[in-house]
Amino acid sequence: MVSRIAVTGGGIAGLSAALLLARQGYEVDLVERDGPPPDALDDIARWQRPGAPQVRHPHMFLGLFRNVLRTRLPDVHADLLAHGVEEVDMTAPPGVEAPEGAPDLAGFGSRRATVEWVLHRAVRGQSGIRVHHGLSARDVVVEQGQVRGLRVDGTTIEADAVVDATGRRSPLAGAFVKEAEESPCGNVYHSRFYRLLEGVPKPPMFLVPVVFAGGAGFGGGLYAHDNDTFAVVFARLPEDDVLGRLREAGAFEAAARAVPQFEPWLGPGKAEPIGDVVPMAGLTNTWRELAPDAPAGYLPIGDVLCTTDPVLGRGASFALAGAAGLSDLLADNGEDLEAVSAGLRAHARDNVRPWYDDAVRDNAERTRSWRATVAGQQEPAADLPLGVLAALAGMQDQQLWESAQLRANLLAAPDSLDTPEVHDRLNAVLSTGWEPPVLSPGPSYTELTDALAAHTG
Ligand SMILES: Cc1cc2nc3c(=O)[nH]c(=O)nc-3n(C[C@H](O)[C@H](O)[C@H](O)COP(=O)(O)OP(=O)(O)OC[C@H]3O[C@@H](n4cnc5c(N)ncnc54)[C@H](O)[C@@H]3O)c2cc1C
Repeated sequence: MVSRIAVTGGGIAGLSAALLLARQGYEVDLVERDGPPPDALDDIARWQRPGAPQVRHPHMFLGLFRNVLRTRLPDVHADLLAHGVEEVDMTAPPGVEAPEGAPDLAGFGSRRATVEWVLHRAVRGQSGIRVHHGLSARDVVVEQGQVRGLRVDGTTIEADAVVDATGRRSPLAGAFVKEAEESPCGNVYHSRFYRLLEGVPKPPMFLVPVVFAGGAGFGGGLYAHDNDTFAVVFARLPEDDVLGRLREAGAFEAAARAVPQFEPWLGPGKAEPIGDVVPMAGLTNTWRELAPDAPAGYLPIGDVLCTTDPVLGRGASFALAGAAGLSDLLADNGEDLEAVSAGLRAHARDNVRPWYDDAVRDNAERTRSWRATVAGQQEPAADLPLGVLAALAGMQDQQLWESAQLRANLLAAPDSLDTPEVHDRLNAVLSTGWEPPVLSPGPSYTELTDALAAHTG
């Protein structure tokens, strides 16, 4: 009988799995190597999260995340809104009233630490969960093909199943996973968080980077987050040593000042930094599949199974949806852990793998284009990807808008726009003489590198 479950890793996947499983009546041990969050949300910027370094980078939470949270953990959704996280309504283009019957479409931007803080609050208030902070999971105890427990520093936690939610560098997955595929995203992140000074209006909330700069050899954006905070991020090619200077605070600020669109929020007297400039390199699209001979009761979710380019903002949605999928599989299959494993494989293959392939394609094209620009080659104007074109043309056609937003928010499949109906609607918009507006271009590569060169120090 399955009664005790060890959940290892207290990130998005692990915290939400622990909550869902405890609410299903399982006794849950949640093991997290990092320390607990501070009691007060105001102190969150000081929380050390070496186990999940992406916590210090901007996060957008897409429609899939918001919908699963609202339906499966409605108290957590409500608590997020009560703690300064604002939803962004995407049912219709900005400034347009949504027609009756439009799908319920919303997401939000928030510091990732705020989302985890609220999940931790729910875990603390939930009976049936024992939380072990500061302990590292080392190994899964297996007897006769069945999970019996989890080895952590110096001791063993008895368990009938282990949920592996330890993220992209899982120490447990190695022996139980097959078909690992990996390809570099082709970018390095440099981010910094800020808080608006009193009286400064917030940046507009929207689910693409609020301001998109570059795309010509580099990318960058300003993301509105919770409680008057926002983040600025630049992404560059890993081999681009000139933009590598973005790791220095002074150079980063000089680059940010070179983006005219950031001025309303970064100009003098507008905001103050609430952290250092932090880099994140080694970003990969990674695909792993649970091996057919993995022991019954080893249940991986979230980044353990798949990571995709952070620019696309998809990983937290897959982590939460994976936890919800696992909870359903346990509810439906009860004691049959082999059936649960089969269901996990099918869930990942059907719902996540197509997005992995999409990210690999997207990144290959972006890397080719950035490299050409950095090498000084004149790029022929490329056709806009179908998703971007449909979203822009959607300003003229609500149906196109909805189709594009459902896909962008992971609520429709990656190939869902490639249909005769979408193409007919696009052609109808184009036949009126409409042309896609030029996306906010920001500084050119040369302007950005000049700004860095002018900064000494
Ligand atoms: C720079 C960056 C920006 C991103 N931006 C976005 C975004 O905008 N939107 C989005 O949806 N996704 C984004 N992502 C992806 C998203 O952060 C991940 O997909 C998500 O965190 C996956 O959640 P997880 O719970 O599976 O793993 P993690 O969040 O990595 O959590 C794993 C947890 O396991 C713990 N752990 C690790 N090893 C052990 C061990 N041995 N024992 C115990 N505990 C352990 C870690 O401390 C951590 O708490 C971004 C990723 C990066 C790198």
